[in-house]
Amino acid sequence: MTAFVKDFRGDLNGIENKITHGSGVFIDLESIFSAWCFSHMLKEIVLSDDLFLKIVSREIPADIVYETSSVLAFRDINPQAPVHILIIPKIRIPTINDLRSQQSELLGKLFLAAAEIARDEGISKDGYRVVMNCNEAGGQMVYHIHLHLLGGRQMTWPPG
Ligand code: 5GP
Repeated sequence: MTAFVKDFRGDLNGIENKITHGSGVFIDLESIFSAWCFSHMLKEIVLSDDLFLKIVSREIPADIVYETSSVLAFRDINPQAPVHILIIPKIRIPTINDLRSQQSELLGKLFLAAAEIARDEGISKDGYRVVMNCNEAGGQMVYHIHLHLLGGRQMTWPPG
C-alpha cells in the first residue's frame, strides 16, 4: 500500500494535479486521493476486526456444532429461538453484496450445512427458518456473511 501511495504521489508530481472545472472550481487530485486512501484504510481496519474469523481461528470461544474445511457453525450468543445457530464460510465475505459467482458452491454448502444441523438438532420435521441479513436496513450487525438457523418454536411472519 505504501509503495502504491508513493507511486501515485510520484505520478501526481509528474502531472498538473489541480484541474479546473468548467465552472472555474479547482479539483485538488491530492485531496481526493487522500480521502480515497482514508476510506480504504478505514474499511481494511473494520474488516481485519472480523469477529467471526476470530471464532474460526479459536481466538474467541464459541459453542461449535459443525465444521468442515470451508464452513463453521456455532450457537448464537443471544439466541432468538430454542435453536439458533450461525453458519459461516471460513473466508471473509462481508455481505451478500460482496459475493462472487465463483463462491456460489460455498453458498450452497452453507445451506447444506443448515439442513444437516437442523436434522441433528431434531427440528427438520417440524420446520425451521434460515435467514441472512444484509447491511444496516437488513439488520446485519456482524460483517461476515452468516446464515441464521432458527427453530424449536413457531416462527411468525412478517419478521420484524
Ligand atoms: P446479524 O445481525 O449480523 O445478522 O447477526 C449477528 C449475530 O451474531 C447476532 O444474532 C448476535 O447475537 C451474534 N453474535 C454476535 N457476537 C457473537 C459472538 O461473539 N459469539 C456468538 N456465538 N454469536 C455472536
